[in-house]
Amino acid sequence: MISYEEALALLRTGTVPLPRRTLPLAVAAGEVTSAAISARLSVPGFANAAMEGYVLRASATATASPAAPVRLPVAGLIAAGTAPPCTPDRAAAAGQAWEIFTGAPVPAALDAVVPVERVTRVAARVGEPPSVEITSPLRPGQNVRFAGEDFVPGATVVAAGTRLAPHHLMGLAACGIDEVSVVARPRVAVLTTGSELEQAGADLAPGRIRDANGPYLHALLPLLGAGVSTAATAADDAAELRDRLGLLARTADLVLTTGGVSAGRLDLLPAAVREIGGEVVFHKVAIRPGKPVLHARLPGGALLFGLPGNPLAVAVGMRFFVIPALRTLQGLAPEQPETAMTLEPVRGRGTLRFFAKAFADLDAAGQRRVRLLPGQESFRIAPLLQANCWAIVPEGSADLPAGSILHTLPLYPADSCPP
Ligand code: AMP
Ligand code: MG
Repeated sequence: MISYEEALALLRTGTVPLPRRTLPLAVAAGEVTSAAISARLSVPGFANAAMEGYVLRASATATASPAAPVRLPVAGLIAAGTAPPCTPDRAAAAGQAWEIFTGAPVPAALDAVVPVERVTRVAARVGEPPSVEITSPLRPGQNVRFAGEDFVPGATVVAAGTRLAPHHLMGLAACGIDEVSVVARPRVAVLTTGSELEQAGADLAPGRIRDANGPYLHALLPLLGAGVSTAATAADDAAELRDRLGLLARTADLVLTTGGVSAGRLDLLPAAVREIGGEVVFHKVAIRPGKPVLHARLPGGALLFGLPGNPLAVAVGMRFFVIPALRTLQGLAPEQPETAMTLEPVRGRGTLRFFAKAFADLDAAGQRRVRLLPGQESFRIAPLLQANCWAIVPEGSADLPAGSILHTLPLYPADSCPP
């Protein structure tokens, strides 16, 4: 039986990113960039007013004080969306102010904006334009946003391997990007197996149970940026499993099965994988829950993960094997675990790495702490509903005293797709 780290290394080396495609920016949220994206525009594109007020030359206000205000004639008005007016020459500019609105272009000869609430406007008289009185000096550049302060053309806006969130679209749109090159979405086929499974209802015949894994996987895969290409359920029947797997392998980049993967007489999945020509990469990993997990490469290139049927084995299999594989397919970097201090002693699990349903929060001093929840058995879903993370108890640990530091991972990756 191989260790978790060995299994992870095997699945990463055997997984290559999917091909790229080009998408309009407007529909690119949740996609993963296949290359760095550079700014096409300078942002701001031109010097512009950060406030509504009067744009002038700062040097003209050097002597301004409440006792001796500087009075400047108002030469005109500059609104957002208009080209800057005929630029006054530098000499003339020093003696003028222009009324200006937020985002409106600052003429090249002017360099500061005095906010409207800091001036006194003097109405026009016959033969004279209106003017403004300024009572304190301005610094050059005051209340002006300069070209390229935020992005310069050619600068990287978003790195390769970034899942595009709304804030990335904000930056890309500002920088003049209309199309992005992204990694194709993985197509995942889901097959829940087990002759005991029912898809609906609470009126179950004796011995039958609800398929809890199917809805879980259906809800989870889109968060991971994957599309569910086909979904099916199969009985514990060798021929049925083989036929279904054969079909699913053709429509998917990744086939996910649950159930029937341990060593029992009715655990028929490993044989079905081999029958359709699948090459097993690993079967059984030194973890709990989910030890019998199987990973194979199918003819045609699809990857397969056979997860044991217990719902918690499925959750762990997804979090610690399938999510890393999907990230590699999408060109996303591996997630970095967080750390937290255990509040209580934690029992070591011998040679197995243990993935525990856990709850982490901050104590009064802001220190992150974690509590392993009661009910760690792999059939128990209820504690998962109280959990907000997985705590990882390393293999080979003796019992750990309270106050030990553990790695944790949130239930879902921080860069999950917006629902
Ligand atoms: P298996 O891996 O097939 O041996 O299943 C392990 C346990 O998980 C058994 O108790 C199954 O009844 C249960 N199980 C299998 N598949 C599912 C499922 N889709 N939803 C809920 N429980 C399941
Ligand atoms: Mg079974």
